[in-house]
Formats: sequence, C-alpha cells, structure tokens
Amino acid sequence: MRIDQIITRTNKEAKEFDTINATLLQKAGFIDQTMAGVYSYLPLGLRVLTRIENIIREEMDKVGSEILMPAMVPRELWEKTDRMETDILFEVRGANDKSRKKNKASYILSPTHEEVITPLFMKQRMSYKDLPFAAYQIQTKFRNEERPKSGLLRGREFRMKDLYSFHASDEDRREYYDRIKDVYVKIFDRLGIGEDTIVALAGGGDFTDEFTHEFDTRCESGEDIVYWDEREQAYYNAEVASDELKDGSEEIKVSEVGNIFPLGTKFSEAFGYMFTDQSGERKPVHMASYGIGSSRVMGVIVEKFNDDGGIIWPKSVAPFQVYLAVMPGDNKAVIERADKIYEDLLGAGIEVLYDDRAGVSGGMKLKDADLTGMPWRAVVSEKTGSKVEIKARTSEEIRLIKGSDLLKVVKA
Ligand code: ATP
Ligand code: MG
Repeated sequence: MRIDQIITRTNKEAKEFDTINATLLQKAGFIDQTMAGVYSYLPLGLRVLTRIENIIREEMDKVGSEILMPAMVPRELWEKTDRMETDILFEVRGANDKSRKKNKASYILSPTHEEVITPLFMKQRMSYKDLPFAAYQIQTKFRNEERPKSGLLRGREFRMKDLYSFHASDEDRREYYDRIKDVYVKIFDRLGIGEDTIVALAGGGDFTDEFTHEFDTRCESGEDIVYWDEREQAYYNAEVASDELKDGSEEIKVSEVGNIFPLGTKFSEAFGYMFTDQSGERKPVHMASYGIGSSRVMGVIVEKFNDDGGIIWPKSVAPFQVYLAVMPGDNKAVIERADKIYEDLLGAGIEVLYDDRAGVSGGMKLKDADLTGMPWRAVVSEKTGSKVEIKARTSEEIRLIKGSDLLKVVKA
C-alpha cells in the first residue's frame, strides 16, 4: 500500500501517556483516544487488531463455530441470573424515550455473553445428541471499569473473543476445557507472546469451587501479580495464593490476556436449560467460558516489544511486513527503481507499506519506519545504486543487497 492511502499520520510530538502502549500507539497513529478507555482504531491499528483476531479465529474454528451476538440486550436477561448488581454493568436507555416509565426502557451493553448464549441455544439444542457443542464470537464488550487506563490494557469499550461450551456432564466439560488450554498456548505462541505467557491458577468467584485458569503475560505495566509455587510446580494469582506463598516467593507482574472458566450449571439452571439424557431424564447442561482480550493483547505486545525508536511488531501481527522508503532527491530514476521493487514485492504477495512521500526528508521516513515497527525496512536511494538497503527492525545491521534477493530475505 502506498503511504498516501493511510489517511492518518504519525505524531512524534504527541504527549506521553501512562504506559508505553498508550504513548507509542498514539504517536505512531495506530489508535486515537475518544475518552478514557475508549479508542478508535486507525488504518494501521485496525490491521494489527484484525491480524490478532484472525489468528484467534483460525484456532477457534478448529474447536467451535463462530457466531455474532448483539451487544445491546434487554435487562431481563441480567435480572434472570441475578447479576444486575455487577459493578461494571452499563445500562442504556433511549435519550428521548419520554413516554416510557423510568427504568422501563433500559438495556444492558454486554460485558460478557452467558446471558445471551444460554437462552439462545436453549431454543434448539435440547437432546443429549446435541451435546457437546461450542460457539464463539469476537466482539466489542462494554464494562464500566472504575479506572480505565494503560491504553489498550483496560478499556471501557474493548475487544474480546469469548467462547462458550455446553456439555452433558462435568467429565465431558473437563476434557474439552483441557483441550482449549492447549489451543490457548498455541494462540499466544502465534501472537508472539507465548514465551512470556504463564498459565496461573485463579479463583472461580461465585461460579465454581474449582480453580480457573488465567493466561498471564509478564508485563511491567500489567495490573495483576502471580506467584510461582516451587512445591506445587504451579503459578497462582494473588487472589488464591496463600500468605506463605506470597511471603516466600518472587512477585511476577503480569497482564491477564485470557482466561478459561468452568461455569458448572449456574447459567443453565437460571434459564432452565435442561437436556434429555439417554434414559429420558432431564438434566442441566454443564457450561464453561473462555475469553481472550484481543485489544488488550495488542497493548501487551507493544509493552513487550519496543525500543527508543518505537514499536517492534512480531511478524505474525505486523500491519505490513516491509516498510519501503524511497529517498530520491532530484533523481527520477531512483523513484522508478523503488516503484519496481514495490511492484515486485506486491506481486510476490509481500505486504509492503511504500513511503514515497514527496517533501518528507529521508531522516523522517526512517524515524517513521522505526516508530511504526514493521519487521523490515528497505531503503532505495541514490546511494544504494541498483541495490536495496535492508534492515530488520530487531537488528542494527544494515545490508546492501540486490533487489532480486529482497524477496528471499523478507520471506525468511
Ligand atoms: P480483569 O481481571 O483484567 O478485569 P476479567 O477477569 O474481568 O479481567 P474476563 O471477564 O475473563 O476478564 O474477560 C476475558 C478477557 O478480556 C480478560 O482475560 C482480558 O484479557 C480481557 N479484558 C477484561 N476486561 C478488560 C478491559 N477492561 N479492557 C481490555 N481487556 C479486558
Ligand atoms: Mg474485570
């Protein structure tokens, strides 16, 4: 893509925010804050978010089917599960609904979707033959967080993948749950944060006495803490770690990028979601839910992969693989050479952002290349002659190579 098609600009003078991801993503022109905890995704930012979500989608499609539920739902659903008191719940009403009585016309902006998916599938999957099954969505969630902060790490409006599974027995739920644990490991690997992502045991709130599992990425600006228990050979989050463990073990700062949660029969009982087993007996369906905060993941990736120059995207989520900058001076032939390299890369299916802006200095282009963080920077200038200067974002080494070798290098 030619850079002129990207309608937003970098803003190196933008102010510093509370976290690296908030600062860099705004300086680089990936996101824009509308209000605390609420952001627009600009062209480059949306490409990253989409990439993250597509990786999640690819893995989820192996274990469930994708649906899309409404974000706005009737409050009755939340009354039914007795969760109207949930602190983070947003309620909305029509601004000009004067004819209706107060409290009547209110809706919930969903922070999670057990209240929607349970009655949804209750309408059609009622026999043991229909179980197990699982469905997921990737959607915008709303939570009235007390302190939205840290850029994409804690929003009031944010993106989440949520998967729900339905089973005839707790044993069956367990088997699927363990499978999803492995799928999550694979997803975080593909997203480039696998090495630093820990599976920690956490509490189950009102839902279950069992441990639930959090996927926590080591991150200085994360809000959570986990402890390593040498004896048990397991990580515990602060909520369930014993005092003894807290005193004796090193604290690890993390950000929770995902979690998986046995729900037991809480929701199926609230809605009366029963199935008929083989002997004709009616039993409540066993459920579990599995979240990944896709927008938080984007923030965490920036927290982890950056330097003084800007962001360093892992290849799997980078908006483009190559930042191609042409520095022609007054020499038209240089532009022709760069155009040809651009076309060749495109023809080979390489995603390249082509910075052919006139009136922008070479130095500025290099700064933008660093700030926006594509894995490769390629420069064509008078100095490079018939060759191309290539540099990986992760390295200081600059190589002068033949245009025809460029493909091999950036594909590797
Ligand atoms: P947290 O403890 O951070 O508030 P949670 O336990 O409320 O998270 P879940 O309800 O399980 O989180 O949501 C699933 C995932 O969604 C989380 O693991 C996290 O990655 C993401 N998430 C939750 N709240 C937010 C938020 N306010 N902003 C961005 N992502 C969030
Ligand atoms: Mg929360």
